[in-house]
Amino acid sequence: QSGLYFVATPIGTARDITLRALDVLASADVIAAEDTRSMRRLLEIHGVPLGDRPVLAYHDHSGAKAREKLIGFLAAGKSVAYASEAGTPLIADPGYHLAKDAAAAGYQVTSAPGPSAIITALTLAGLPTDAFFFAGFLPNAKGARRTALEAVRDVPGTLVFYESPRRTGEMLKDAARVLGGTRDAVVCRELTKKFEEIKRGTLESLAEDIGGAALKGEVVVLIDRAGSEAVDEGDIETALETALENMSVRD
Ligand code: SAM
Repeated sequence: QSGLYFVATPIGTARDITLRALDVLASADVIAAEDTRSMRRLLEIHGVPLGDRPVLAYHDHSGAKAREKLIGFLAAGKSVAYASEAGTPLIADPGYHLAKDAAAAGYQVTSAPGPSAIITALTLAGLPTDAFFFAGFLPNAKGARRTALEAVRDVPGTLVFYESPRRTGEMLKDAARVLGGTRDAVVCRELTKKFEEIKRGTLESLAEDIGGAALKGEVVVLIDRAGSEAVDEGDIETALETALENMSVRD
């Protein structure tokens, strides 16, 4: 069926691709990718024949021309599958301008959903997931980074950041300073890969533990919302008992 398909690809383990994603890649008239080499490799691993279909490079920075070319295929009634290098397109990855333009022009936009480091990290971190805020990558410059952290200080949900492995220690130090060292935090490294590692602690303990070391691989940092650290189950039980006692006194 014609239209634009955003296809999620694995974030570390090739077999994490969905059956539907493979179907879409097998049947699309045109395949476009952030990284054409990774796409060709993925198709090869899963035995999806490319035939004489081209794999076109597309990145939001490729500009309006490259986008117009893909929209042109949609106008001709073709199906176009787009994947970023890893995970879900548009999530800290290209695709937003393509989705926007295709939708504005009235073409069908579909997702073949699958892996994303945000959801993978939230699933195993052990922090509340009722509400979360994805803050993407923080700015490199220290001042701008602290300002960005200040802007999310009071967000009523778990904070999720993508972070460079070389800057993780520094980021945790800044976060401890701006958000308070006692907040619970989790550093997820190399998710779904052989050397997956999850470090849990407070911002202060994790900043100390990682220090100036350059970690290896890919990193997601999660930070609990403000105020959670003050509430433990003991406090809740005491508060409930007091409330119940007060109720029976009033009866
Ligand atoms: N589109 C991707 C997604 O849906 O997760 C994200 C792409 S973004 C350019 C790459 C960043 O995502 C990495 O720097 C890291 O913060 C995070 N990431 C991607 N794969 C990861 C993995 N296997 N383990 C930990 N973090 C990962």
